[in-house]
Amino acid sequence: MTVYDIIIIGGGVIGCCIARTLSKYDLKVALLEKEADIASGTTKANSGVVHAGYASPREYVKRDMCIKGNKLYTQAAEELNFPFQRIGSFVVALEDSQIKKLEEERKLATQDGVPGLELILDKEKIKYMEPNLTDEAVGVLHAPSAGIVSPYEMTYALAENAAMNGVKFFRNQKVRRIKHQNYVFVIKTKTDEFKSNNVINAAGLYGLKISKMVGLDYFKLMPRKGEYILFDRNAMHLNKILFPTPTKVSKGILVCPTVSGNTFVGPNALNITDKKDIATTEAGLKEILEGGNKLVPNMPVRASIRNFAGLRAIPGTYDFIIDSTDVYGFINVVGILSPGLTSCYAIAERVVEFLELLGANTKIKEDYNPMRPKPERFKDFTKEELDRKIKEDPAWGRIICRCENIPEKEILNAIHAPVGATTVDGVKFRCRPGMGRCQGGFCRPRVIEILSRELNIPYEDVLKRGEDTNFLVAKTKEIALLRLKRGENE
Ligand SMILES: Cc1cc2nc3c(=O)[nH]c(=O)nc-3n(C[C@H](O)[C@H](O)[C@H](O)COP(=O)(O)OP(=O)(O)OC[C@H]3O[C@@H](n4cnc5c(N)ncnc54)[C@H](O)[C@@H]3O)c2cc1C
Repeated sequence: MTVYDIIIIGGGVIGCCIARTLSKYDLKVALLEKEADIASGTTKANSGVVHAGYASPREYVKRDMCIKGNKLYTQAAEELNFPFQRIGSFVVALEDSQIKKLEEERKLATQDGVPGLELILDKEKIKYMEPNLTDEAVGVLHAPSAGIVSPYEMTYALAENAAMNGVKFFRNQKVRRIKHQNYVFVIKTKTDEFKSNNVINAAGLYGLKISKMVGLDYFKLMPRKGEYILFDRNAMHLNKILFPTPTKVSKGILVCPTVSGNTFVGPNALNITDKKDIATTEAGLKEILEGGNKLVPNMPVRASIRNFAGLRAIPGTYDFIIDSTDVYGFINVVGILSPGLTSCYAIAERVVEFLELLGANTKIKEDYNPMRPKPERFKDFTKEELDRKIKEDPAWGRIICRCENIPEKEILNAIHAPVGATTVDGVKFRCRPGMGRCQGGFCRPRVIEILSRELNIPYEDVLKRGEDTNFLVAKTKEIALLRLKRGENE
């Protein structure tokens, strides 16, 4: 059996970023993910903001990680070709008393290396930079280094590049037990056993459960829900990420564009106990609309196309837990609340420092390739390029998702990529069929058909996102026959 140098538990943005960073080195690395796909946890549903880094108090590790992490995005986006735009953010003061706070933040963050921060009090200039902003704004803190990213597309890119450089990905592998014997970790899942000299716990909300498996029970993690409303692409066009002036506990409800040209409002912050509760609530949606309306009056409610919620893993300390622990070779990377997405590249570098101290070989491999090719997109081709592509492969011309203009070829590429899609959601999040106005009403059956054909599985075995999420149970006439046999139709 292979004894890995490092096994990472958890395929969120943190686990995948660590995997990609470690794929540089001459190390045997594997990643275990409990779900059918990576990016299925907190990474799937968040604001997708690459924060500038002024928001956390100075004594927190997360402030330092965020400022460093933000800077590392430029190179990462060039190498990995994921959608990322440094559009800048506004923190909006609606009362004169908030201006002082914004100026204090500007000064401190500038000293800490956040570039280009500017307090703007000229209302005309503010309106010119963001015409949608409320007339009530008395000033804004402009952070030009803030940006927007697709969190899941970045995570897929990280995993693809890590896999191209030798990291093994195992999905549907929920870690159930870990034994530490003679400096080797033996990790048991439902179906398999894995061995490794080092383990990195990046299990998000379930980080404490994994930590306890090696006897480490020294932190707390609490789920905190954040709800969102997503608007259709034509609803409005924002230039900037809009935050209210933050409170002590939250950055507040923001109004923000996405890299796909949509806009969203959210999140709120609701402490809950159930780590699977991602339902939206009437009260929550009302709360976020009220919050959004303060920044952009008359939010386009009728153009909302989806509500969703994500869960933060909130540690008792409100700070990241990145520890080389008392169990030799076991590293906790947990409690990665916001700005974890922004900080992931800096967190991965910190993990490498720990592994070096543990004696891991961090010599860069001769054949390491940091580049991940940009996925080809129908929408990016000129008419001439498209004609040529369709001649080469007619799957470029077969449109499956009419809202988003996604041809069959993009779906095939998503399925056959390294660490490719195996579920309907996997396809949707990689290349967008089902993300548009009709939310999959038209394209879902076709996507099921393509997955069934390409993975060589019956229609009934095609899943939405994982175990027990089948869309289809049997053919219509078979169900009728089954019911007849059972006497249900009488
Ligand atoms: C509402 C909200 C808004 C946010 N907005 C931002 C933002 O704008 N900018 C920003 O920087 N950050 C933001 N964040 C924070 C950011 O989303 C997180 O820091 C980041 O996604 C955490 O990633 P992770 O890999 O630690 O966790 P996850 O994505 O949850 O990954 C953990 C993985 O571990 C797997 N796992 C768990 N148990 C096991 C097991 N037993 N065996 C195998 N695998 C297991 C899970 O299935 C999961 O895939 C936001 C978070 C939320 C919830």
